[in-house]
Amino acid sequence: MKMHAAALHEYGQPMVVEEIEIDDPKQGEVLVKLAASGVCYSDYIFVEGKPLFESPRPIVLGDEGAGVVEKVGPGVTTVKPGDHVVMSWMYMCGQCRYCTVGRPNLCDVGRGPEIGQGYLADGTTRMHKGSTPYYHFIGISTMAEYSVASENSVIKIDSDIPLDKAALLGCAVMTGVGSVINTAKVETGASVAVFGAGGVGISAIQGAVLSGAYPIIAVDTRANKLEFAKKFGATHTVDASKTDPVQEIRNITGVGADYTFEATGNVKVMRQAFEAAGRGGKAIVIGAAGIGDEVSINALDFPFTEKSLIGSGYGSARLRVDIPRLLNLYKAGKLKLDEMVTQTYPLVDVNRAFDDLREGKNIRGVLVMD
Ligand SMILES: [Zn+2]
Ligand SMILES: [Zn+2]
Repeated sequence: MKMHAAALHEYGQPMVVEEIEIDDPKQGEVLVKLAASGVCYSDYIFVEGKPLFESPRPIVLGDEGAGVVEKVGPGVTTVKPGDHVVMSWMYMCGQCRYCTVGRPNLCDVGRGPEIGQGYLADGTTRMHKGSTPYYHFIGISTMAEYSVASENSVIKIDSDIPLDKAALLGCAVMTGVGSVINTAKVETGASVAVFGAGGVGISAIQGAVLSGAYPIIAVDTRANKLEFAKKFGATHTVDASKTDPVQEIRNITGVGADYTFEATGNVKVMRQAFEAAGRGGKAIVIGAAGIGDEVSINALDFPFTEKSLIGSGYGSARLRVDIPRLLNLYKAGKLKLDEMVTQTYPLVDVNRAFDDLREGKNIRGVLVMD
């Protein structure tokens, strides 16, 4: 079948929206007609030319989306044609050690070489133009009219949820909210500081609100981001371009925050997040730094302060539990998704969407397919 897709032919070059072919789903796979795809920083770094991993090209980008199942391959049991689904870049096999102990975000297959290098889990692709293969971006490639993915990467959702909002659960919202409620398990009344008020940081702020944290301090260098943060529940804002955020967080909390979240991917900010945590506090790193980057912290803080520096990947999500749960909170008015989508774009305007992302104009831009 022919479809339009946004493909990256070379790192550092603009995306090309073109007509390519997509094959039918194979064993355990589904064909999804996409309604929306989030525009994520994880995509942008490939366009910018600083990819997190080497992938063959051309590659169809897009790491969060939602749509309607069009066809299923043999053996598929969790969805059927007509079902509304969220597409998540977190593939979970359901059987490895990590999946079994309830940490499917660390799944052996999901973190395996095939999905990280442009293939589906069986090591082949379903997209091509003539005889030229087009590669899959972390198993889902949502910047297209259709996607073939494993059923392990799609989660059925209620059909009354707008798909352009549900798409955000595929990456940003799950990552940010999950870092607070799953990874850190922030308790009511604990103090929280979030570094970086982009899509993931705003979602972490929403997680802090859901946890009953106070104060909730948002740190960013851009005034418009701090204004966004207040609308999502930040009780205090710190403009790190004007003041030392570590000192300011100590001033607000008295001793440093109980939990700090780093959502920028900048190693200097990771250090600040660690320093801004109080004694016994936890600094949670969500942001992805560059390949080979190292973070430097005062090693004596470990025994002297019992602080921890911990990682959070994809919000420690258990997809089939957490995505429906968060969408229920959305329906109940407790999780703000409508307000996060500050701009939509047609697929052909994908490069404009990335320009706006680079300039920090949106909380989340979303591509909406016809
Ligand atoms: Zn993403
Ligand atoms: Zn697994």
